[in-house]
Amino acid sequence: MDWKEVYEAQEKGVLKSQAGRCMDCGVPFCHQGCPLGNLIPEWNDLVWRDKGEEAMERLHATNNFPEFTGRLCPAPCEASCVLGINQPAVTIKQVEVSIVDQAFENGWVNPLPPARLTGKTVAVVGSGPAGLAVAQQLTRVGHTVAVYERDDKIGGLLRYGIPDFKMEKEQVDRRLEQMKAEGTRFRTGVAVGTDVTWEQLRRRYDAVVVATGATVPRDLPIPGRELEGVHFAMDYLVPANRVVAGRRWRTRSTLPESTLSSSAAATPARTASAPRTGTRPPRSPPWRSASSRPLSAPATSHGRRSPPCSKLPAPTRKAANAPTSPPPWSSSARTAN
Ligand SMILES: Cc1cc2nc3c(=O)[nH]c(=O)nc-3n(C[C@H](O)[C@H](O)[C@H](O)COP(=O)(O)OP(=O)(O)OC[C@H]3O[C@@H](n4cnc5c(N)ncnc54)[C@H](O)[C@@H]3O)c2cc1C
Ligand code: SF4
Repeated sequence: MDWKEVYEAQEKGVLKSQAGRCMDCGVPFCHQGCPLGNLIPEWNDLVWRDKGEEAMERLHATNNFPEFTGRLCPAPCEASCVLGINQPAVTIKQVEVSIVDQAFENGWVNPLPPARLTGKTVAVVGSGPAGLAVAQQLTRVGHTVAVYERDDKIGGLLRYGIPDFKMEKEQVDRRLEQMKAEGTRFRTGVAVGTDVTWEQLRRRYDAVVVATGATVPRDLPIPGRELEGVHFAMDYLVPANRVVAGRRWRTRSTLPESTLSSSAAATPARTASAPRTGTRPPRSPPWRSASSRPLSAPATSHGRRSPPCSKLPAPTRKAANAPTSPPPWSSSARTAN
């Protein structure tokens, strides 16, 4: 057994005939189904005509990372496909991922650095797909962009949430190579709000994009939730992904302090005599040793690297358990003021 992707490549003839089934509808409902507005009938037609490189360009026109969406998206486009009224929909997602996989194989995915720089600087906080997409777009129009990530690797949930069987991490790595070649800079091991303040970032850059995601597990308040052995998947997915990536098993790595402290604070520690009622908070995996970090402890174990940016003033390092402050321009901060 391995942890590799479970998907198999589509046979070229089948793929072509699937693309050829597309009717190029006058009102392509697949467009409405796709949250990105992908130009589906256009690249279906190009695949049918064996124009792989042009298909890749049309695919990238609306989608920075089709290799991610082609693997992960639940394909609402297929549910919207007109053909689906009385026969199977076009296998749009399979066509999408095949276009971009073929493009990488053939070396068609190249860096697209800007023709000139604008002189403007942007900090993007968070390196999940949202942060990466915005960083790529802003870099390509000529801004100087630095992505700040508190974890030890770039990718957000793509890296440490989604298991390899669904998407191997080489997909993230090869896209990062393209982004680096285009000029996007990456700073890992920097928790904004702790290692550097939001004010410092705001002073240093012309603009700051907050793309910090929401690694908050959603509870399921149903009967049986309180039973032994019912855990949040995120307690397992993050450390399991680390192990598959060749790292140490480390509990609670990318879960944000807010999640952990709030869930820990919201529910008193269970004692032997405490009755099991209501919804139970997330608990440690059973094999977590008693001496390991308690769930409410702050995330101090992520890789500390070189200072986040040499031009930034010395970061104000807060007490280890200080909460990450919201950006000063956020609504919660404004309310507090
Ligand atoms: C197991 C699993 C399977 C999934 N499967 C699918 C799927 O099939 N299809 C689909 O569409 N979606 C799927 N998702 C959801 C998808 O991964 C998320 O919607 C997506 O990653 C959100 O992107 P994001 O960029 O907003 O945030 P994230 O990916 O969460 O990235 C945010 C990043 O910001 C960083 N960060 C946060 N605060 C700070 C700070 N103060 N300083 C520095 N860095 C910070 C975090 O460490 C993180 O790396 C899945 C998620 C999981 C966990
Ligand atoms: S709805 Fe289906 S058949 Fe019509 S253009 Fe979109 S993919 Fe093609």
